[in-house]
Amino acid sequence: MARIVVKFGGTSMANIERIRHSALHVKREVEAGNEVAVVVSAMSGKTNELVGWVNEASKLHDAREYDAVVASGEQVTAGLMAIVLAEMGIQSRSFSGWQVPIKTDDAHGAARITEIDPTELDKRMKDGWVPVITGFQGISPHGRVTTLGRGGSDTSAVAVVAAAVGADRCDIYTDVDGVYTTDPRIVPKAQRMTKISFEEMLEMASLGAKVLMLRSVEMAMAYKVRLLVRSSFDDPNAPQIAPDGTPGVPGTLVCDEDEIMEKQIVSGVTLAKAEAKITLRDVKDKPGVAAAIFGQLADQGIIVDMIVQNIADDGATTDITFTVPDSEYDKAVKALENNGGKFEYARLSGSKGGAKVSVVGVGMRSHAGVASSMFKALADKGINIQLITTSEIKTSVLIDEEYAELAVRALHTYYGLDKKDA
Ligand code: ADP
Ligand code: ASP
Ligand code: MG
Repeated sequence: MARIVVKFGGTSMANIERIRHSALHVKREVEAGNEVAVVVSAMSGKTNELVGWVNEASKLHDAREYDAVVASGEQVTAGLMAIVLAEMGIQSRSFSGWQVPIKTDDAHGAARITEIDPTELDKRMKDGWVPVITGFQGISPHGRVTTLGRGGSDTSAVAVVAAAVGADRCDIYTDVDGVYTTDPRIVPKAQRMTKISFEEMLEMASLGAKVLMLRSVEMAMAYKVRLLVRSSFDDPNAPQIAPDGTPGVPGTLVCDEDEIMEKQIVSGVTLAKAEAKITLRDVKDKPGVAAAIFGQLADQGIIVDMIVQNIADDGATTDITFTVPDSEYDKAVKALENNGGKFEYARLSGSKGGAKVSVVGVGMRSHAGVASSMFKALADKGINIQLITTSEIKTSVLIDEEYAELAVRALHTYYGLDKKDA
């Protein structure tokens, strides 16, 4: 017998028929003698619709009311899942974030979980109940509903395991049967990985692979929660996980690097679109300037991604280039232009519509030449590189959005990741 937390994403909860199908996966686990808790997302498209309504009501809305509205999608699906499970003869009830409670800070729209009280969930599971918990939402210290940021139900699921019920497994049911070498919707020749290390998954999630929310991977890594990413569209009665943890059904295990025998140099390619680039020319080259520039942006809550600063030729001035999301471009330019004399520069230039393409792999730690081969593969396709950043296990380039898919496909082929029979 095991204790399992299962999470169903939006497509798996899209309508009553899909909820019933997802519930059959829960039923199978319960009938195998396991204790199960369920975390659900809103029906696919619902959260977008709710966000749209809030913006239509007022562009300058109160973030607390945004959360009150946007969190409601999960309340509907949690109730429906509990009803469907009960109809299948399984004792079940829904829990909203505040009912658990899942406590968060008060950063509305991007709140962080601070504490989950396990008492009620633990008791229910021991008594053979299946609690169904709303993903994505919690409660602030002031008693207001909060949301965790888009894709946040993954984080709710990992947090319920890590902080509350101490489950043996966390199964993430989605609309693909695992984590692929790149987004299978862009590259049909992408291959499913049987296993991926926390660290690689962390990089892939941070670089645009939305199959798992970044924060959920961070938390899984910190608390050593192994995740199985699998499809809810599978036959619920197919043979399941092998005793050694190897998925007996298609799926990807996100686990410790030590559990992975074969380490690829490059294991995945990711794409993040809508990256804007800003260059400040002739910035005074003296201590404190970078702190002043990026402090100004941070004060506005603008997240900066890639940063490149040149060596000053004349020792007096330098150029700094960095990227922000397209949606933050106008705000960033305004913040830099109206900086109250905190820093000086000669000119500001920039543009929206960049794409960040990255290659990721733990094997890069011990292999030279990945960056140069990546640049060559892109040059062969005539793709111009605008910015470059690297970490121990990834290399990223900023290119024109127009060439984004071409670049992803070219790199996927170049590193031998294409499915052989496709
Ligand atoms: P859910 O609603 O179940 O949380 P998401 O839409 O958030 O599902 O995430 C699943 C999607 O992530 C897939 O449909 C796929 O298009 C996308 N995706 C992006 N990169 C990858 C990848 N490397 N492997 C698998 N899926 C990926
Ligand atoms: N429903 C939320 C969203 O669409 C959370 C999630 O699906 O994980 O972002
Ligand atoms: Mg998701």
